[in-house]
Amino acid sequence: MPSTDTARDTGVRVYRAHLFHIAGAPAQTDVASHLVSIPDGALVVEGEGMIAWTGPWAELPAAFADAPVTRADYLLPGFVDSHVHFPQSYATAAHGGGQLLEWLDHCIFPTETQFRDADFADRAARYFTRRRIAAGTTAAMVFGSAFPVAQDALYRETLAAGLRIVSGRGVQTVGPDAAAALLTTEDRAIELIQDEIDRWHAVDTGDPRTAHVQVAVVPRFSLSVTQRTLAAMGELYEEAQLHGVYFHSHLNENNRKGDGEIAAVLGSYGVEAYLDTYDGRFLPGSRSGGRSLLGRRSSLAHAVHCQPRELSRMAETGTSIAHCPTSQLFLGSGTMPWRATVATGVNVALGSDIGAGDEWLISRVAGDAYKVHISEEGDAGTALHPAELLFAATLAGARALDMEHAFGNLDPGKDADFLLIETGRWEPLEGMLSMGIRSDDEEQATLEELFTLLVGLRQPAIAGVYVQGRRAVAPEL
Ligand SMILES: [Zn+2]
Repeated sequence: MPSTDTARDTGVRVYRAHLFHIAGAPAQTDVASHLVSIPDGALVVEGEGMIAWTGPWAELPAAFADAPVTRADYLLPGFVDSHVHFPQSYATAAHGGGQLLEWLDHCIFPTETQFRDADFADRAARYFTRRRIAAGTTAAMVFGSAFPVAQDALYRETLAAGLRIVSGRGVQTVGPDAAAALLTTEDRAIELIQDEIDRWHAVDTGDPRTAHVQVAVVPRFSLSVTQRTLAAMGELYEEAQLHGVYFHSHLNENNRKGDGEIAAVLGSYGVEAYLDTYDGRFLPGSRSGGRSLLGRRSSLAHAVHCQPRELSRMAETGTSIAHCPTSQLFLGSGTMPWRATVATGVNVALGSDIGAGDEWLISRVAGDAYKVHISEEGDAGTALHPAELLFAATLAGARALDMEHAFGNLDPGKDADFLLIETGRWEPLEGMLSMGIRSDDEEQATLEELFTLLVGLRQPAIAGVYVQGRRAVAPEL
């Protein structure tokens, strides 16, 4: 016999907190006008995990009045990490004795080799999942391990925890001695990509517009593959792209004169621009040799030292940049020129780039973005608006994954991917927010509050992490 109570329990939940998000689908240059702040707000999540309503608590529709209410101090959209390396989970804060290429040889190739062991990889996958949940990272573009056994563990743990992921086996067919265990033949590399797509792409829903687990084609960078492999990837991607498979790699990270990454790419391929190697133009003189790997489901990490034509080509193809300022500081890679980059219309999201980045929390990466861009020389220096930081940490990441229709903000109709924040769990945050917001002007005070919340946030203050309305559960180690 149905009681009134069970008849009313439709699975609807209400979350009452100060809401901040970037509403709609603005251009990067127009996000400030799309900032929404609702000091005593409510987010209504229906039973299937979709956002049914967002607005002031005082205006909560009567239809939701009986739903259970969870309170928090703040509620933000889930953070999106647009570039993070699973097989570098344990390599944060590793002293490499030099910049990118030395650090790869001394720290990264050895640590990534450990992932060939199934037990090691299982534990690492649980650790990597715990780190994402602790940091409020609800969705991520994850640079994968060379070893299928490790990728399988990564996908299994991600599904069990309820997080969103796009990942792909890190492909290397050529490299230095230190990377020997990570290399395969060129033909085997293509077979393994296809196998990962067949076994894991959109495995949970069968639809790349809704799936939480999706697959990417991921060469480590141009120096780790050859013209022949890039051509074969292009052929594979022509078909895979139709099914929503992604492409992800690194671009223009380190330009140390003479022997840095960019000089090595231009020298070994004989191309005029690094991007050309991913754009099918990988033959000497940037002549066409195959199909382009660029598009709406493509993103490239760093893009610190791009030529103007590379930026406009990314913008024109819908390819996003995963901007990783924390990592760029760590490896001395330089600073991506913010204004010149966003002015081209290319989408710029934030990435931790763990392990060259030593910080998992994307809002802290946003804080580093603020610091490096205000320090750019001369007229290039810019104080990023708090709404730009929030956008880069959330909606721009959803856009980089071509999943803006599903998550990235708190608009009704999207999946409920969000974080609950309790300031009392991190005393400095509570101090700054309760005593440090001084402006008499309400609009200015709101911006001060958002900036302090983002830059001052630390992991202990993240009290709940939700994906499609379900609380993410961290595995035991
Ligand atoms: Zn990286």
